[in-house]
Amino acid sequence: MSGNKKKVVLIGTGLVGMSFAYAALNQNVCDELVLIDLNEKRASGEAMDLNHGLAFSHSSMKIYTGAYSDCTDADIVLICAGVNQKPGESRLQLLKRNYDVFSSIVPKVVQSGFEGIFVVATNPVDIMTRITYELSGFNASKVIGTGTTLDTARLRYLMGEYFEVDPRNIHAYVIGEHGDSEFVPWSQALLAAKPIKDVLDDNPQTYYMEELEKISEEVRGAAQKIIEAKGATYYGIGMSMVRVVRAILQDENSVLTVSVRLRGEYGGKKDVFIGNPCIVNSGGAKRVLELKLSESELKKLDDCCNILNDSFKNLSI
Ligand code: NAD
Repeated sequence: MSGNKKKVVLIGTGLVGMSFAYAALNQNVCDELVLIDLNEKRASGEAMDLNHGLAFSHSSMKIYTGAYSDCTDADIVLICAGVNQKPGESRLQLLKRNYDVFSSIVPKVVQSGFEGIFVVATNPVDIMTRITYELSGFNASKVIGTGTTLDTARLRYLMGEYFEVDPRNIHAYVIGEHGDSEFVPWSQALLAAKPIKDVLDDNPQTYYMEELEKISEEVRGAAQKIIEAKGATYYGIGMSMVRVVRAILQDENSVLTVSVRLRGEYGGKKDVFIGNPCIVNSGGAKRVLELKLSESELKKLDDCCNILNDSFKNLSI
């Protein structure tokens, strides 16, 4: 760590990385931001562009392109480098290529003497986070994925619209895989301090479970819809990354649905990295909050864990 200065190294200055960087600058989230990309020319152009906006911001952030040696005293290394799916390529083939990308990144970060927290956003994020954990040899608490933070934000926004309540007063989570098997454990959802189930029971003519299920479908399909409309998603994830980074740098003890390694929760689930509410602070993932899920919700979580475990094992690394 660099004294009191908060330093973040961003690896991958594509659409997601730079959406993070732009939001980080506007929210003044750190003192120093280092940009690294395989495409060095692009990274240097991005650093110039951001620096030219400094005069209009409230930040005096130091932004520059760097090398892996810059990770030595960083608080956070944020990875959103990756390759895109080629036509006809399977998810597993893409995963293998992203494994190769991470093999060329994570060992270099570790060799720098980095002792901070890894935050991963590259997809499939739960598996890439597990790969980062394996490649780094770090304690699991120091390796976090963005998990279902963005999905949870989308859920709260849509529930806020439905109930006409500020999304900040909606306490509901999307958990599991950041992907097709993710789900909303409705048994755990609250409007302020009132269980959603009670809200439905008290207002049978106004609110319906079927509508809430449609909302959870909409959340699950949101990324695809955005990709169809504009080719990629990046602003929302960039802001989610800023949220996770701030929780770490400010030692907030905030509860976020990051991707974390399970250690025996939910009836002995181990090793798998999955989106679940977790207390996040300067030490990374401080504590996983095990939810009291219903039987059907536990079955869905089981499915998520199996899917993620199978994908990881199929990589045969
Ligand atoms: P992009 O193609 O715009 O950027 C990827 C960048 O990674 C490129 O600049 C490329 O040069 C760089 N890169 C590739 N290999 C590298 C290496 N070995 N070392 C350093 N840099 C390398 O892609 P994007 O739109 O920014 O997306 C990045 C990742 O974020 C993708 O995996 C995408 O699926 C993921 N994503 C995650 C979420 C989420 O919720 N977790 C949401 C959106 C996108």
